Amino acid sequence: MTPTPFSALGPNAVIGIVGGGQLGRMSAMAAAKLGFKTHILTQDPNGPAAQVSSGITLGAYDDLAVLEQFARAVDVVTFEFENISADGLDCLAQHCPVRPSGAILRTSQDRAVEKTFLTQAGVPIAPWHPVTDHASLQVAAEKLRFPFILKTARDGYDGKGQRRVYTPDELTEAYAALAPRALVAEGMVDFACEISVMVVRGANGTVRCFDPAQNFHRNGILDITLAPAPIAPELTQQAQTLATTIAEKLELIGILGVEMFIDRTGNLLVNEIAPRPHNSGHWTMDACPVDQFDMHIRAVAGLPLPPAQRHADAVMKNLIGPDDMALWPQIIATSTFLPHLYGKAEARRGRKMGHVNLVFPYSGLPGALGIQDALGPLATPDTTEN
Ligand code: AMP
Repeated sequence: MTPTPFSALGPNAVIGIVGGGQLGRMSAMAAAKLGFKTHILTQDPNGPAAQVSSGITLGAYDDLAVLEQFARAVDVVTFEFENISADGLDCLAQHCPVRPSGAILRTSQDRAVEKTFLTQAGVPIAPWHPVTDHASLQVAAEKLRFPFILKTARDGYDGKGQRRVYTPDELTEAYAALAPRALVAEGMVDFACEISVMVVRGANGTVRCFDPAQNFHRNGILDITLAPAPIAPELTQQAQTLATTIAEKLELIGILGVEMFIDRTGNLLVNEIAPRPHNSGHWTMDACPVDQFDMHIRAVAGLPLPPAQRHADAVMKNLIGPDDMALWPQIIATSTFLPHLYGKAEARRGRKMGHVNLVFPYSGLPGALGIQDALGPLATPDTTEN
């Protein structure tokens, strides 16, 4: 697909962002640094992004009249979350450029489509099988052997919509819990670590990759990211090459997160892609002169992309729910925590309220114990130890 002819946006142009959450908020703040205005399509006039943007259109993401009204107010459109209708983006594309494209969103929204794309692009992934009924479930179990993971093909996030299946006895129950939605079955990867690479591609085809970061989850939600990932230079190179291949094959314009496993034999397997800024790229906000949001806005606006340099090592710790927010007085009193709060009214359990970054000298990232020590009241010992 050839990108729509489009010259770089100048100061005061309006960037439309579909979605009103924290990724939209931080994108809008990056856009403001470059002299752009932002206009949010959201259903929440007081949400994280609406609070820091110059305009909002209130309404549903699939209401054509709302989309048209939104498109008329902006010069280019991007999106900050994936559970929006790709058809809606296609509709917006009739009025102005949409970056990344609806076609890319369509690929990333469905795990089966995504895995087919990755395989065709020559990108290694875990063995998998589509599951639509009991018969295909049996075939998947025979091919993948136990244990394996059943995932809903669409709408899964933060570990939701997944069941691990350890024995044949568990098949029926796991299937019943997720069906009748279309599913994929994935071989369980015995991974040594999980990493992610943020890759951005500009309108002129320039590709930039940030350093791979290592991710630790708690209760299915990202807890801590270490940057750079403490992996061999060859693996760093391979991970960035895979991310670049994905960006180029998709003809991406904008940023994309690539989540990968490193298995026990040192092989990289891509788990999933997300065509938007990503929680595992938040470390760039304090460790890079041009962070993931700056890069994304530059790409969307057709501006040049500077190198994705890192001037420090970093630890990112998410602030999740009421327990982490109860520590806010301590967090704000600790000068080594660089705070980023999202302006959410209510600290519900499991809700991402903000994050802190800790920066260390370049190549000075401490080991697990040093990180726990630096995290102080925010330490979660079970997560940074492999
Ligand atoms: P996902 O929603 O695909 O990102 O999965 C959420 C988390 O579940 C990942 O970050 C992994 O920790 C784990 N996971 C997902 N797929 C697999 C797999 N095939 N093998 C092992 N662990 C997995």
